[in-house]
Amino acid sequence: MIKAKKSLGQNFLIDKNILEKIVNITEIKNKTILEIGPGTGNLTSFIIKKKPKKFLVIEKDNILAKKIEDTYKDKLKVINDDVLDVDENSLFDEKVTVFGNLPYNISTEILNNWIINLKNDFWFECLVLMFQKEVADRIIAKFNTSNYGRLSIICNWKLNIKKICDIKPEAFYPKPKIDSSLLFFYPKKNFIKINNPNSLEKITRIFFNQRRKMLKKPYNQIFNGDKKVLEKLKIDLNLRPQNLNLDTYYKLAYEYEKLGS
Ligand code: SAM
Repeated sequence: MIKAKKSLGQNFLIDKNILEKIVNITEIKNKTILEIGPGTGNLTSFIIKKKPKKFLVIEKDNILAKKIEDTYKDKLKVINDDVLDVDENSLFDEKVTVFGNLPYNISTEILNNWIINLKNDFWFECLVLMFQKEVADRIIAKFNTSNYGRLSIICNWKLNIKKICDIKPEAFYPKPKIDSSLLFFYPKKNFIKINNPNSLEKITRIFFNQRRKMLKKPYNQIFNGDKKVLEKLKIDLNLRPQNLNLDTYYKLAYEYEKLGS
């Protein structure tokens, strides 16, 4: 049996009911599919049964990548690389459906990169991704709640997000200490335009740097005390960062960009 590497977040999904559920979330037949971290191929084999048109997997672990390649040679293409070093924008000539039971230690970095690095058009049709529950809770958090923050704001900018279900540690081997959640993401048709997504990263970083403090200090830091944006967006500086809704953050990023133009 394969010895799981903790450093690569290897918790293999072994519950067949959940594997079946994952491949029924969205159409696979005749679609182009990307799987992140196929590992021992548990989810991979369920995807193959659904007959995708094209199937690519990205696996960092050399031994597992070789094993997947040997087992499914004519059914998929393996990219033996770190997903964080792959530019998915230029990998495909048509939109992709992405599956991933993501390595927990880099799951937010993967998702954040995909959103921040999106070119004009989306390279994916939808994403079916597993996160540790605590991270999923932050991704889908609503404003005025304690889980709401940078991750919620960045993820919800261009994507609709639906929670599919929570998953208990028993579904994995080795068994993780935490619960997991499965999320489904698909592109929004309309979203507030921000030319450089790094502006949104900057705004949210400065605002949530001290999430318990009032908005006065971060607002003044970004807008140099200029009250125009404040009045336009009707922001009360006595509130706290978690009290501003998603659109207000996107509008703040937009106004911040106008400062430099
Ligand atoms: N999909 C398999 C399953 O559900 O049983 C394995 C999931 S396991 C949680 C995460 C997988 O991602 C492992 O196979 C691991 O080797 C791979 N992985 C970890 N870090 C990676 C990275 N930076 N780039 C690509 N794959 C990575």
